[in-house]
Amino acid sequence: MTTSISSPDDSSLVELCSKLGELAPQLEAKDAWPAEQLQLCADYGVFEWFLPVEIGGQGWSELDIVRGYLKLSAACLTTTFIITQRMGACRRLAVSENRELAARWLPGLIPGETFATVGISHLTTSRRHLSKPILTAKESNDGFVLNGFSPWVTGSTHADMVVVGATLDDDRQFLAVVETNLTGVEIPPTADLVGLSASQTGPVRFNDTFISANALIAGPVENVMQSGAGARTGGLQTSTLAIGLADAAIMLVEQEAAKREDLYMAASSLREEHSVAEADLLALASGEAVCSNDEIRTRANSLALRASQASLTATKGAGYLTSHPAGRYCREALFFLVWSCPQSVLAANLCELAGISE
Ligand SMILES: Cc1cc2nc3c(=O)[nH]c(=O)nc-3n(C[C@H](O)[C@H](O)[C@H](O)COP(=O)(O)OP(=O)(O)OC[C@H]3O[C@@H](n4cnc5c(N)ncnc54)[C@H](O)[C@@H]3O)c2cc1C
Repeated sequence: MTTSISSPDDSSLVELCSKLGELAPQLEAKDAWPAEQLQLCADYGVFEWFLPVEIGGQGWSELDIVRGYLKLSAACLTTTFIITQRMGACRRLAVSENRELAARWLPGLIPGETFATVGISHLTTSRRHLSKPILTAKESNDGFVLNGFSPWVTGSTHADMVVVGATLDDDRQFLAVVETNLTGVEIPPTADLVGLSASQTGPVRFNDTFISANALIAGPVENVMQSGAGARTGGLQTSTLAIGLADAAIMLVEQEAAKREDLYMAASSLREEHSVAEADLLALASGEAVCSNDEIRTRANSLALRASQASLTATKGAGYLTSHPAGRYCREALFFLVWSCPQSVLAANLCELAGISE
């Protein structure tokens, strides 16, 4: 019997996180996908947190969402990351003026009966240096014909639909729901990644794929990603997951430090830094401008990288076994160097890695 989680302080969230933590090692297997974990999240009402009460959600505040995500990501980063992409699609639908489309998809998405994801990074952080858009659309009889590909789509092989961004000849862009069973949609098997392979992330290709004008969520308009909410870069969600992962890694250092005094100083220094970063993150989520979103992301990335490597240092050779969480944390921390990373954060991370003080 599961109890729906109605606040980040609920004991049922602790219960869910403990189950996710136990299942996390299974996701290292080839071709794994966290179906059981996502079902558990649906059963515990996690997908309701992010959506307004009027449409069947629980309408959590941004602060509570951040607090919930911090706990989930410390338990299982892969599952939590998939939820962010799933919720990116749901929230885009929820704020869309196309109410018919929202009414068609959200009732199945909220209880986890269907799976949706996003393929939008080519409008923000991916392939932006190329002279031509990689996913184009042409108007045609009450709809649009898509050609090209979306390079990064999490859960592509399990998706019923993808919220995709496309660019017209006149540079206007739109976001649309593309059902994966439409003619001309091609989803190749996903490649192995350095970490989070079980997120089943890969490209989705479109070969003369026709979508009806009714499938549009937003646009056509210039810079469609500046409009609406739910899937922008530079928000707090990426920093939240990095700080959640750092928490798990620091707990590992603390467990070792309880047996070995020489680790105590490192463990307490990392914990102190984590507490300050978490407090700043929660302040930002409450609307207090304690620092910029890019600053917290830069600190979160640095902390996740250092904390995970400290957990490996503390657990020594035993931690270097692929079955040990320390190695997994190290690989997962690298993800934050590339996931939806704004240019200023990339530059700051590079300066730190190159030993250049800003
Ligand atoms: C595991 C994972 C899951 C993801 N899931 C999603 C998802 O579900 N939905 C989504 O929308 N996005 C997703 N993303 C995308 C992510 O948010 C970033 O957009 C992506 O990581 C950016 O990397 P890129 O290789 O596409 O960047 P690019 O900027 O396209 O870089 C690719 C290559 O291009 C070259 N290059 C880059 N810049 C320049 C330049 N200025 N001049 C010349 N050459 C250049 C470099 O050789 C570089 O290696 C995911 C990414 C990962 C890794």
